[in-house]
Amino acid sequence: MKKTVQKIIYVIVIIGCFIYLNQNEIKRFYDHYIDNHKVELKNLSKDEFFQIQFIDVGQGESIFIENNKKYVLVDAGNNKDGNKLVKYFQELGIDSFQYVIGTHAHEDHIGGMDNIIRTFPINHYYMPSPTVDNMTYQGVIKALQDKNIKLETPNIDSTFQVENTKFQILSITDDEEDLNNTSIILKVSYYNTTFLLMSDATEEIERNLLEKDINSDVLKVSHHGSKYSSIAQFINKVHPKYAIIQVGKNNDYYFPHKVTLDKLERIGSKIYRTDLNGTIIITSNGNDLQISTKKTDTNQE
Ligand SMILES: [Zn+2]
Repeated sequence: MKKTVQKIIYVIVIIGCFIYLNQNEIKRFYDHYIDNHKVELKNLSKDEFFQIQFIDVGQGESIFIENNKKYVLVDAGNNKDGNKLVKYFQELGIDSFQYVIGTHAHEDHIGGMDNIIRTFPINHYYMPSPTVDNMTYQGVIKALQDKNIKLETPNIDSTFQVENTKFQILSITDDEEDLNNTSIILKVSYYNTTFLLMSDATEEIERNLLEKDINSDVLKVSHHGSKYSSIAQFINKVHPKYAIIQVGKNNDYYFPHKVTLDKLERIGSKIYRTDLNGTIIITSNGNDLQISTKKTDTNQE
């Protein structure tokens, strides 16, 4: 009997070693592959600058992207955040936006958008097609009309470029039943660094994305860390080094949910949250990322 137990232990140890060594082998191959497929960055100009800010707007989202003094804004928090965001961008010296994207027609994403539209010149304004009969949405439409800015609805898989930053629309729908499903999902690539911005995508949308090239260095986690999004297959395939959750302190939805945090921790993602860290700022040199955080007055009452 004792011998049988010993044998079983030997077998388990041998299998364990085999799996461990194989994993190392796979990782070596993967690193080698990545090294050989990195874009050469030798010719990158000294003036190149790329930064993405996940702005702390409490229970809402606002993401600001800058490359060589050209600017893109994805969402603008709640109604109460509009003036604070305008002031924040003015203090940063922003004079106009190349693209402004309202990912979907919920207040925590487009609430402050009318203030942005009325203050800054905007070259392109993107939003999904479903119209909504509430003050927030109508306020955005009125501001666009007053400023003579066209509301554009991009096609799925369409791309645009701002300086050396590439943007791909991975998902957009016209599902009027669930506005979260309409969310404009963006993959942002700056040379060899990638950012996946999931807005309030549901499990259904994440499943649709599994066949696409979603592996990214940074994941802006779906729907403020809700347990109804961030399915395991999706998180595993994106496999982000850094996971960002835009979420308010003591919010009514108990976001972010523990199961989501557990899934991210299990794959070794470092988690940053606006409720704990404030505004999260990531700078890229095309290969490596630097992360800093700061408390901003965009989340003061
Ligand atoms: Zn939201």
